[in-house]
Amino acid sequence: MFGLIAGFSILGSILLHELMHSIVAQRKGLPVLEIELFIFGGVSKITDEPKSPRIEFKIAIVGPITSILLGFGLIELSFINISYAPVILMLIYIGIMNVGLGLFNLVPAFPMDGGRVLRSILWKRKKNMISATRTASRVGSFFGYVFMGIGLFQTLFLGIFSGLWMLFIGNFLNTNAKNSYIQAIYLESLSNLKTYEIMGGISPIIQYNTTLDVAIREYFMRFRRNHFLVALNDRIVGVIHMERVKNIPFENRSTMVAGDITEKIADIPSIKGDMNGRDALAQLTNSQKKSDILVVMEEDSSDIIGFIEAEDFQRAISLIQNSTLR
Ligand SMILES: [Zn+2]
Repeated sequence: MFGLIAGFSILGSILLHELMHSIVAQRKGLPVLEIELFIFGGVSKITDEPKSPRIEFKIAIVGPITSILLGFGLIELSFINISYAPVILMLIYIGIMNVGLGLFNLVPAFPMDGGRVLRSILWKRKKNMISATRTASRVGSFFGYVFMGIGLFQTLFLGIFSGLWMLFIGNFLNTNAKNSYIQAIYLESLSNLKTYEIMGGISPIIQYNTTLDVAIREYFMRFRRNHFLVALNDRIVGVIHMERVKNIPFENRSTMVAGDITEKIADIPSIKGDMNGRDALAQLTNSQKKSDILVVMEEDSSDIIGFIEAEDFQRAISLIQNSTLR
């Protein structure tokens, strides 16, 4: 019974910790997609990086502070509480767990809270987000290797279980540090591009009355894109998706036309061509449940100049990798 209560209290403590991150993130305008419970602390998925070191610092620090304050609060509560020993023990136990959770998250292993605090400080001092992220990520990797070293030592000399656990945490820290650095570079490079630059080359427009077998042969296979704009009487009316074409049986493809399965422009989220790539990616991620593309309009009118799909971001990123960064 007490074990069960303790278990739920710890789960609740982790949730509270993550909830505080999410509340501050949301108040600072960063969308939080979901809170995922992870075995040794939660992981709130924030879809974009903070826009300033000050914001990053606040979002990162609030979690550990919550846990540590809650922990000390519970421990203090145990002193004034009733004489019933199990309750006192449990308050102390959950209190210590919370303090431990807070302290563990403060380890400066980016992208954990402590690493984000470290990055925000470096970022503010050097005024360079990328170099701050690089340093924070290296420190994170270092802690990953330290944990793995301890794990190896424990496995060899003390016992398998706790050692494997440390190895696992170390590996997790190490991988996450590297991935987060890569992600930060991508986001930063994307923020230097405009949407119309990411859209890529001009892709042809399919006429409304084009039959599907012609569309497949002359457009989808030839230009290797998953979407095309569809026009009727010189006006763009929508977008045709590869996915929808695939669902049409072979025997119907010579009679059905592109217009039959075109998604109307009004149903597709749209952005302006001069929006920066990073914001565009955030828009696409946010609308992903509804649509896998965004229609791009001219900045000073509602004329459609194209669309942007997830693959465009990948292409833009690999172009950046091959040119300016290395
Ligand atoms: Zn945290």
